[in-house]
Amino acid sequence: MTNAWQNLLEHLGRSGSISPQTHETWIAPLRFLHQDGSKIHLLAPDAYFAEWIKDHISDVLVRAYEDATGERASFHFSYPTALDDSKESRAVPKPDLNPNFTFERFVPGDANQEAYTAARSVAKKPAKSFNPLYIAGGVGLGKTHLVQAIGHLLVATNPSLVVRYVSGERYVNSLITALRSRDNSKIDAFRNQFRSDCDILLIDDIHFISGKNRSQDEFFHTFNDLYHTGKQIVMCGNQLPADIPDLTEKLRSRLQWNLVVEIKPPELPLRIAILKDKAERMGMNLSDEVAHHVAEHVDTNVRNLESVLANLQFRCSMLSSEATIPIADKVLKELFKVGEKPPVTAEMILSAVARQAGMQPRQLKGTSRDRGTVAARQMAMFLCRRHTSMSAPTLASFFGIGSHATVLNAVKKITQELAVNANTKKQFESVSQAIEQLRREI
Ligand code: ADP
Ligand code: MG
Repeated sequence: MTNAWQNLLEHLGRSGSISPQTHETWIAPLRFLHQDGSKIHLLAPDAYFAEWIKDHISDVLVRAYEDATGERASFHFSYPTALDDSKESRAVPKPDLNPNFTFERFVPGDANQEAYTAARSVAKKPAKSFNPLYIAGGVGLGKTHLVQAIGHLLVATNPSLVVRYVSGERYVNSLITALRSRDNSKIDAFRNQFRSDCDILLIDDIHFISGKNRSQDEFFHTFNDLYHTGKQIVMCGNQLPADIPDLTEKLRSRLQWNLVVEIKPPELPLRIAILKDKAERMGMNLSDEVAHHVAEHVDTNVRNLESVLANLQFRCSMLSSEATIPIADKVLKELFKVGEKPPVTAEMILSAVARQAGMQPRQLKGTSRDRGTVAARQMAMFLCRRHTSMSAPTLASFFGIGSHATVLNAVKKITQELAVNANTKKQFESVSQAIEQLRREI
């Protein structure tokens, strides 16, 4: 698409419709951003430049474009806004943020330290530290909390900035609504709120855009526009950009253009610290012993820790009792069936699949191309993705294969086969039973 602009530049050079000096002063510094149908968006170095160009040169551009292509186009100029520019004259819309999701209420620890530090740094120096910032992590690990914490701090410290927070799902749905209306003013309004009328874009659960081509295309242009005008973009998703399926490569490259940080499930000391911090805020007396006990049994995510606390508080108030280990055990059992069955691990899956295929678990690891081995390995990978929180790269190294793409292919292949192949379905059911058997044996 840059070609439209390059062709126009060449045409201007050949036609002599502007002097070389005007060309050098006013045309050469312009940068092509993108083209929406007949609208060509260019970046000027600053506001004055953009105004001048609009008043004095854009007619020449329109005519030259028509001469060169036989079509009419309009030219739109944006310019980088210093993020701390004051914009007193306009009413600044406030993002819709959860009041609890602040940095003060976020407990940092090994599992989230990188993400926490990066988020603070972006909130302190938007567009000047890491741009874009991408936070990856499983469910309930604090992605939304951190992304919104950036929003809170920016709104508090830079009241003139327009901070937009939107989930991937809402972004896609609003775009569809705007497009369905076939009303250009609605489509423009959708676009502008995330482009010209936006200084900081916080986009949650961006993985929702997977497989949605129209939304990916729209977001790609929005991303470029914001990035080239010096605006901060923060995104989070439940997978690393490299692992999100059905994403165009050009958008994937944008997601991982700068810093990608991953939040891991909290380790024991962090789980204890989070429990203590939250209990204190809830006005609940939680002894070290009970906190430790709960933290040992809930190692999945922070949302689950919160739900234990809420249930524990309720039970204790019904019993007019302090939180004790027996009460905590009751809550744990009710919520997570703790004490009944251990979680499914990759080792369990490996041995169940191997048992069914009449192999040794270690034979499933490595790169053997033997058909039976490949099929069993693919099933094991599929089950690992389904039952464990291991990412595709972690699984690639667990299985001793080079590329995580192999894991993603395996998942795709088994998913497809399950829908059409009775044998695969039978194999899946019998391995699932074997896994359940192993859980009971432990
Ligand atoms: P995600 O978006 O990754 O699914 P959330 O950000 O919604 O997870 O976090 C789930 C819950 O856990 C929220 O209530 C959040 O406040 C809390 N939480 C997550 N991590 C932390 C942390 N490190 N300190 C305090 N609360 C946390
Ligand atoms: Mg979230």
